[in-house]
Amino acid sequence: MTLKLRLIAAVFVTVFVIGALNLLALHRIAALDRETFAEHRAEASRAVDARIGEILAELDSAAINLSRPRDIVNALHGADNETLSDWSAAFVGSADHEAAIDTIVFTDTGGMVIARAPDEFRFGDDVSTTQPFFAASRDGSFLGIAPVDGRPSLVAARVLRKYDDVPVGVVYVACAITPDVLSKITGSRNVVLTYADAGGTISGEAALPIAHAVFSEAVATAHTNGRFRLSFLPDPNHERMLHLQTLLSMGAVIASVMTLVAMLLVLRRELAPYDAIIGGIRAYADRATTLPLLRKRLERAELRRDPQAGKVAAALVRMIDSLEGSFREIAANTARLEDLARNDALTSLPNRRALDEALEAEMRRIRRYGGAFTVILTDIDHFKDVNDRFGHAVGDQVLRQVADLLHTSSRATDMVGRWGGEEFLLLCPDTDAAAVACHAEKLRRAVADTVFPDGIRLTASFGIAEGRSGEPIAQLIERADRALYAAKAAGRDTVR
Ligand code: GH3
Ligand code: MG
Ligand code: MG
Repeated sequence: MTLKLRLIAAVFVTVFVIGALNLLALHRIAALDRETFAEHRAEASRAVDARIGEILAELDSAAINLSRPRDIVNALHGADNETLSDWSAAFVGSADHEAAIDTIVFTDTGGMVIARAPDEFRFGDDVSTTQPFFAASRDGSFLGIAPVDGRPSLVAARVLRKYDDVPVGVVYVACAITPDVLSKITGSRNVVLTYADAGGTISGEAALPIAHAVFSEAVATAHTNGRFRLSFLPDPNHERMLHLQTLLSMGAVIASVMTLVAMLLVLRRELAPYDAIIGGIRAYADRATTLPLLRKRLERAELRRDPQAGKVAAALVRMIDSLEGSFREIAANTARLEDLARNDALTSLPNRRALDEALEAEMRRIRRYGGAFTVILTDIDHFKDVNDRFGHAVGDQVLRQVADLLHTSSRATDMVGRWGGEEFLLLCPDTDAAAVACHAEKLRRAVADTVFPDGIRLTASFGIAEGRSGEPIAQLIERADRALYAAKAAGRDTVR
């Protein structure tokens, strides 16, 4: 895995972990939110139930208060509408809490209305068939919800008894279930309380219609024939919080992605110089570029902009310089070795190996193009004596001088080499034996005429052989050697 891939993987893992933790936190918040909402609903439902109970208890206490005083019992017994109306008027509209008593009705034991408030002049109605009257007549009291004047109402009814014994009639106090009452019971704009029975549905007021409710819950109250239902409207604060949470998580995701993109861009920029360096080295390894070109590439300004990459590039440039120095040294050494391999150290003339190669080449040439070439093998006469008399160093000096002499006296196209010891071989291309014999004679005379150091005088013997097409070189040399031997045998200082 490359460094770039590893870094990208590390960034991905980090972003993934951050994202996962974020999602986990959001999930937990949502779960807590749901739990809180469920608790809130149950609590609201219980509170509504309690409130209805409290209102009924209040109505009941009003009914009790209207059923006890002797004045009221006597007034009802005597059908004294005026007294009853006065008493009623004192209770109607009075309430410590949100639900006010809106109707009070006194009936005789037969269910005939004797007095009521308000509408004190409306009497004679028969309420004998209504549930409050019926239940109160039978059980002494009624507490619950029942229609009053056609409107569903919270009702408390009590029997009035003369001498605490003889029933003289019934009183009931009622509070109609109106949108206003329902709204006051919940006390919240985000919760709507509705009451539904066979007669229809009454709904508490709210800014939003119930259709927008996020949840509805039945209120478990025991006092009703109909059904109370709590509808929870969206809470603007809660909505704002949810919106904020969504924004936050989106922000986290966007921030993560942006971090990733930014890191990739930075990485790309940071790694670009290294890419260039690695690319250059690979191109050199693949032989697509040369060391000088690679050096130029590494010296480019953009590599120097990054301090670290600049150091690497500079080190590589130094390495290339050192390599190039080594290469130059190797080339020089190789040239020297080649020179040593082909030239004689003492005389600087081509050595036997170089002569052999030249002979092979010449043989190939005449085989292909025809023509002639001739070799002269020469050996200094009695050279041993020179060494013996003047020493090896002088012998060497003499050898060098003979080599010079042979070289300067020959044509540029001729090749003069040291065959070994005090023997030299001359290769004369494009020349036959007859022409070479003259040349050999000239050389013989030159040697004989030369005065060497310490006044040494020398002679040399020469054997000549003309190359024959297709003949092995060894055989040609053998013939030249035989001619040389013949020259020696003939008394030396001779050409044969
Ligand atoms: P000949 O006339 O029969 O050729 O007699 P010669 O003494 O020249 O022949 P020989 O083969 O007996 O001796 C050759 C001598 O050449 C012996 C050797 O010491 C000497 N010699 C060969 N190579 C070198 C060299 O590189 N330097 C020196 N100083 N002497 C050399
Ligand atoms: Mg010899
Ligand atoms: Mg000799």
